[in-house]
Amino acid sequence: MNVRFRLSYVSRNRPVVKMLAMAMGILGFCMAVAAQDSMPQIDPQIKAALAEISSKQVQADIEKLVSFQNRSTLSAQDPASIAAGHGIGAAREWIKSQFEQYSRACGGCLEVKTDTFTQPVSDRVATPTVLTNVYAVLKGTNPEDAKRIVLVTGHYDSRNSSNENITDAAPGANDDASGTAVSLECARVLSKLKFSGTIIFLTVAGEEQGLYGSKHFADFAKSQGWDIEAVLNNDIIGGDKSPGQDPKVVRVFSEGIPESASERQLRMMRYLGGEDDSPSRELARYIAQTARAYETAASPLLEFRLDRYGRGGDHSSFNEAGYAAVRFTEYRENFTRQHQNVRMENGIEYGDLPKFVDFDYVANVARVNAATLASLAAAPGPPQNVKLETKELTNDSTLHWDAPSDGRAVGYDVLWRATATPDWEHSQFVSHATQVTLPVSKDNVIFAVQSVDDAGHRSTPIVPSPGR
Ligand SMILES: [Zn+2]
Repeated sequence: MNVRFRLSYVSRNRPVVKMLAMAMGILGFCMAVAAQDSMPQIDPQIKAALAEISSKQVQADIEKLVSFQNRSTLSAQDPASIAAGHGIGAAREWIKSQFEQYSRACGGCLEVKTDTFTQPVSDRVATPTVLTNVYAVLKGTNPEDAKRIVLVTGHYDSRNSSNENITDAAPGANDDASGTAVSLECARVLSKLKFSGTIIFLTVAGEEQGLYGSKHFADFAKSQGWDIEAVLNNDIIGGDKSPGQDPKVVRVFSEGIPESASERQLRMMRYLGGEDDSPSRELARYIAQTARAYETAASPLLEFRLDRYGRGGDHSSFNEAGYAAVRFTEYRENFTRQHQNVRMENGIEYGDLPKFVDFDYVANVARVNAATLASLAAAPGPPQNVKLETKELTNDSTLHWDAPSDGRAVGYDVLWRATATPDWEHSQFVSHATQVTLPVSKDNVIFAVQSVDDAGHRSTPIVPSPGR
């Protein structure tokens, strides 16, 4: 077995790693220590795609969405209104035409689809209303990996001060034309590449009435048995230009204890820890790792919380269906500009207008999304049946796992961190083997294992369950 002990996630931990490495040397482990940070290798094609993301295109997308005047889910969607460019129906048709245009540019590589259903009467839907989600599928090239899906989403509906007001302007430039623009821009640049796994670029309606569009889509995915590995929900990522904003930071919210956890899983968390290691939280860490590797201008700030106080978003619909999902939101929100009629009042300009959006920031957040989608879609499948041996009382830790069925993993990164530390601190590469024993006490750390292919693409990390 070729075990190479090579990296520390955070450079300040290097002395600790070196001491540990020395201790391992004394113990007679076969290894070499390399002085490098734990960064996934950069894929030049992904890096080039990120450079193609354009703030000008993002601006054009947001301004076009605002031009439909009011994109309330309850607004017009009859043929005359669509022809006149008013209401949610016109927005929907335009999004569809954008995806179709990107598909033509890549020789029909995108399958452009709609998910239409009638939302029954509910609190904020007075009469049965037709809702349509619009999405594009970039199918994976490897038959086995194509079953694995990564998904990016934003909601294209908007609202003003009143849920019922479907005539006055509801520009929704930040909330959430910005997130819709991320799905569109990721589709534009990533459709020029080929990935072994599948990527879905989604835009949903009905968010402002109760997450209805995303709920319908997530439930449909679950009913079809879709293996969605990651959902990136972008909602309010406009980088509102007001004092206190930090354009270098984007918040990434992730649930702790999974909504879908079974009684057994909850019991395990209570006994062994794991409250901070839901699949959504591993996804959040993966996003941060990827953003560091590609040196994106917007840095993810991990928020270990489902969402902001008293607020919700479409990632929750996917969490409820059992999928890993996170929410991207700008660092500081401006509440005089969300869900407001456009007006001047006491010297304050209310309304969610394009002039308050920082288009460079939206493009930077799109780059974090695109880097994550591309890295996961290019990676082999995650390791299967990952177990941490707990039968013997020992101060070492032995992990074993099965290779992903796509046969593409050439090795694995075993990650670990102290139980009270938020992000991964250490990793050890295990080449062409599916078992490793580390001189680290399992009682003091959290482990995870991720597959690595010959180009250095890494899968989502899987936290082991106790085994023998
Ligand atoms: Zn929103």
